[in-house]
Amino acid sequence: MAEYAQIIVDLSIEKLDRPFTYHVPQELKEILRIGDLVEVPFGRGNRSLQGFVIGLEDERSISANITVKDIRKKLPENGITGHLIALAYWMKNQYGGTLNQALKTVLPLKKTAKEKKVSYVELLLPPKRVQELREVFQRKHAVARLRLLEALYTEGELPMSVIGSKLQVSSAVVKAFEEEGYVAIRSERRFRNPFSFDGGNSYRPVLNDEQRAAVEGMYAHFCKKDVPACLLHGVTGSGKTEVYMELIQRIVSQGKQVIVLIPEIALTYQTMMRFYHRFGERVSILHSRLSAGERTDQLERARRGEVDIMIGPRSALFTPFEQLGLIILDEEHEGTYKSEDTIPRYHARETAIYRASQTKALVVLGSATPSLESFYEAKNGNYGYYKLEKRYRNRELPAVSVVDLRAELKAGNRSMFSRKLQKEIAGALGRKEQVMLFLNRRGMTGFISCRSCGKAIKCPHCDVSLTLHKDGKMKCHYCGYETLRMKNCPACGSRYLGGFSVGTQKVEESIQALFPSARVLRMDADTTRSKDGYEAILSGFANQEADVLVGTQMIVKGHDFPNVTVVGILAADMSLLADDFRASERTFQLLTQAAGRAGRGEKPGKVVIQTYQPEHFAIQTAKQQNFEEFYEEEISYRQLLSYPPCGHMMLILMKAEKEEEVEQLALTMEAVVNQIAEQMSVLVIGPADARIKKLNNIYRKTCYIKAKEYDQLVQIKNKIEAYREQSGYRYGTVSFDFDPMHGA
Ligand code: ADP
Ligand code: ZN
Ligand code: ZN
Repeated sequence: MAEYAQIIVDLSIEKLDRPFTYHVPQELKEILRIGDLVEVPFGRGNRSLQGFVIGLEDERSISANITVKDIRKKLPENGITGHLIALAYWMKNQYGGTLNQALKTVLPLKKTAKEKKVSYVELLLPPKRVQELREVFQRKHAVARLRLLEALYTEGELPMSVIGSKLQVSSAVVKAFEEEGYVAIRSERRFRNPFSFDGGNSYRPVLNDEQRAAVEGMYAHFCKKDVPACLLHGVTGSGKTEVYMELIQRIVSQGKQVIVLIPEIALTYQTMMRFYHRFGERVSILHSRLSAGERTDQLERARRGEVDIMIGPRSALFTPFEQLGLIILDEEHEGTYKSEDTIPRYHARETAIYRASQTKALVVLGSATPSLESFYEAKNGNYGYYKLEKRYRNRELPAVSVVDLRAELKAGNRSMFSRKLQKEIAGALGRKEQVMLFLNRRGMTGFISCRSCGKAIKCPHCDVSLTLHKDGKMKCHYCGYETLRMKNCPACGSRYLGGFSVGTQKVEESIQALFPSARVLRMDADTTRSKDGYEAILSGFANQEADVLVGTQMIVKGHDFPNVTVVGILAADMSLLADDFRASERTFQLLTQAAGRAGRGEKPGKVVIQTYQPEHFAIQTAKQQNFEEFYEEEISYRQLLSYPPCGHMMLILMKAEKEEEVEQLALTMEAVVNQIAEQMSVLVIGPADARIKKLNNIYRKTCYIKAKEYDQLVQIKNKIEAYREQSGYRYGTVSFDFDPMHGA
């Protein structure tokens, strides 16, 4: 029973940040909800305006000498906009920033002037002619033509945008095809084999027992609405996508709509086609290559009910579906689900759960290596939990061996490849199979470790690696602890302390030197700089245009390469040495996912993990692919130091153009924070210089707060924001990051 309501009256004005307070009349007290559309008297003339309710409260929060008017009436349909506004309000409150920033994240862009027609390319050739052309293209090594021909032959027709982005075929090639009369281009979609929803034409595999149990269980939760989310924990290749599709089909056939979130990097042509095949024109895909106009069109189609399933990265979460029934997050452990640079810094998992609660929808979180957060909730009985233990067709998980690099050094092997890995590579190349070499470069910058005992030098207070700075000091970027760079390892006394600096280019050169006839492809930030470089390299490797693929964590996801039988992980330790509390978790995930790349086809796979710390639990449990054991060890560390999910952590990032200003800002923030902290039992760490002290000429400082309850952090954030407003936003800016994925 709310007495007062906060109302936004005009969505088009820039300064949305200040909602107006209205009194809730008796007849609305029981029924008024956040997101409702109402009519209110506004301004001195009391003209009627429409507004959305974004907050309800029992007591008035504004000063007593301001008059509060009554809401005139609640208007019927508020539609999806009301839900999205309520969602924005929740995000602002949960993650900080202004309501305006949150609304910009959540509400689609203003409609562009013209609607653009999507054009489709249709193949006109009979199979015999296709076969002839295929041979011609193969002989001429016309790779792009071949790719286009094959894709059109399987699909019949394809949207132009898919050909450009996911197939990597230029419009010139399409034009040439059109001139030759191979294809026709039209602006309306016309289906050769209309995909149908009742499963008539679309291929629906028979699920195995585990898969069926997961679908039934999750569907029951969807009907009973007894949990906010389910965790689908299945090794790679166990059929999670098949389970999603079956669940989607059931929920869509009840007139509900579905959002499928996929990390951008894993949203491949193959994945897209699986959904198109099953659901046809009722699927829409938002990917980064769409223009702003195309994007708006897709969202508009969703609003009008022309599609039921939206697939896309994080931001697809805000698709304006009225009858949302299900939200899926595939690879839910991925860091890209957290927005890092734009405010509010929201996590798609938590935001999905809030959005789902608005329409009593279900959230499904799928992963082979769940985040500690999700597994923690599942273990505590707050989420449904379903496990897929078998790979489809009982394909064996690869055999994983761990090689101790310290022993290699002792035996006189100074190459970056262990003897074991060299042998496996030679074997695979001899059998005409493919190899992936994965260089773990996370946490690459500035740490120091011991080449003899493998230990990193850590902060005595925070148990994260210290970072070496240019001034020769080693610093903890959480608490600011610093010490001079030491000469000997504090653990074993050895003199061999140093960073590890090998790049992918070096790996490529070395492999070429060892195996001169091998065809090597390299994938890293350099070779993927062009917009479509990533997809081009992956499809080249998939088409077996190379024997070895060398890359960073980018190669861990995406395509299935059935001919890859050997995966080498060159510096498994790297991510263990990263200077944040998620270092072990990320290492476990990277190793498990990388290992899952081997042996996806008929042939069994082998994985070689090279490390200086073979005994580390993240490496040992990854070798055994034993998530539960990893979890037990890791959660006890989080418990001990109150890191998420056992406690919560808020990063306060302070920025200013002048160094004196950021110093001032840090001093005032320290005073404010310490005063609040005294009343609540929270721990304040810092302020300290940010890991990157100066970025684009802006000085940065950080302060971390640890608390048992998330809500305590929200309260502190609110107090800081109120203080900043009162003091006129002096000395630069302050922003927040809750349960951060990385340090600032
Ligand atoms: P995940 O998403 O867990 O990695 P996928 O759903 O991609 O697994 O399944 C791996 C492969 O096995 C896919 O080619 C998929 O079509 C196939 N597959 C999985 N389950 C079945 C099934 N019940 N019947 C037929 N094919 C299946
Ligand atoms: Zn040592
Ligand atoms: Zn520290």
